[in-house]
Amino acid sequence: MAAAYLHPPVQAPASSRLTDSHGRVIHDLRVSITDRCNYKCVYCRTGENGAQYPELQIEEYLRLIELFVGLGITKVRLTGGEPLLRRGLLDLVRELARMRTFEGQPLDIALTTNGHLLDRLAAGLKAAGLARVTVSMDAVDGPIFERITRVPGSFQAVLAGVRAARAAGLTPLKINCVLLRGFNDDQIEGFAHFARAEDVIVRFIEFMPLEEDRLWSPEIVVTLKEIVDRIGRVLPLVPLPAREASETARRYTFIDGKGEIGIIAPVSQAFCGACSRVRLTSDGKIRTCLFSQIEHDLYGRMRAGASNEELRAYIVRTVEDKEARHHIGESGFLKPSRSMVHIGG
Ligand code: SAM
Repeated sequence: MAAAYLHPPVQAPASSRLTDSHGRVIHDLRVSITDRCNYKCVYCRTGENGAQYPELQIEEYLRLIELFVGLGITKVRLTGGEPLLRRGLLDLVRELARMRTFEGQPLDIALTTNGHLLDRLAAGLKAAGLARVTVSMDAVDGPIFERITRVPGSFQAVLAGVRAARAAGLTPLKINCVLLRGFNDDQIEGFAHFARAEDVIVRFIEFMPLEEDRLWSPEIVVTLKEIVDRIGRVLPLVPLPAREASETARRYTFIDGKGEIGIIAPVSQAFCGACSRVRLTSDGKIRTCLFSQIEHDLYGRMRAGASNEELRAYIVRTVEDKEARHHIGESGFLKPSRSMVHIGG
């Protein structure tokens, strides 16, 4: 791929590093590169709507990402939709691997996937420069898994993908599991064994009201406390210290030190105060919070001919106004205009 879009590394002064008006430093960018998906997970997509938003050219994502990197972003996570469906993904990863952060370090490049196509793509992604993947997997029991994804054969495909990722060295390998009471909460203990047997970090995520359908209720959310209590009854857990303030997962190991579990609890123990993230949607809009009511059309400005300087100033202003926190569970809570699959999880 031609590297015409790559400009000399931008060394912005420390004073222009991305910070918001609440004093949080933003160093983590999540980029959705498609809102298409090949799964119809019951808690995410109805399956009735396909892609709803356009995709940018790979070169356009690169130009926008590079602007963020020049402002202090050190970690880029590619997501979707399903990012492995996106043509040009390997080129994108290869070019991201050539970028340097503010401090002249390589970017930390990660990707979140349902894993369906990972068996054939893992080695190529690693060779292109991807550091690690997170695979979403909501059950360790095949029939339950496929009741959730609504795709026959998906369990074996994802299991093969997980193993291919590990063999390719896309590690530490994380497995994300969204728990829903009555759908897959009976999988908690099985996942604890899976983490140890497959040498993966299993992270349970509390279900957030971001689905296309209307499924969410406080009762369906399986909370951090319940997960810790249940695993602790079969395999005693030992808390691990946080590595950085913005870490989303509470981490635990088992009493013998073998294996790791994480719990991401945006509902019962929100971590907005330490949030270090912003998102770029597949159509080039900045979202400063998963639950933002407004989006900021960065790509529109780029298409209209804005200079890099103007685009950087726009990013800085937009991030300054990042929301203090989400309001899940409070009266008057409004679902965002896009569901998770169209935002980029
Ligand atoms: N297709 C990729 C995948 O499956 O990982 C990337 C996109 S997906 C939207 C990203 C993550 O968001 C997945 O781990 C998925 O389980 C999670 N997710 C989707 N809807 C969610 C919700 N309402 N609450 C919490 N997590 C959700």
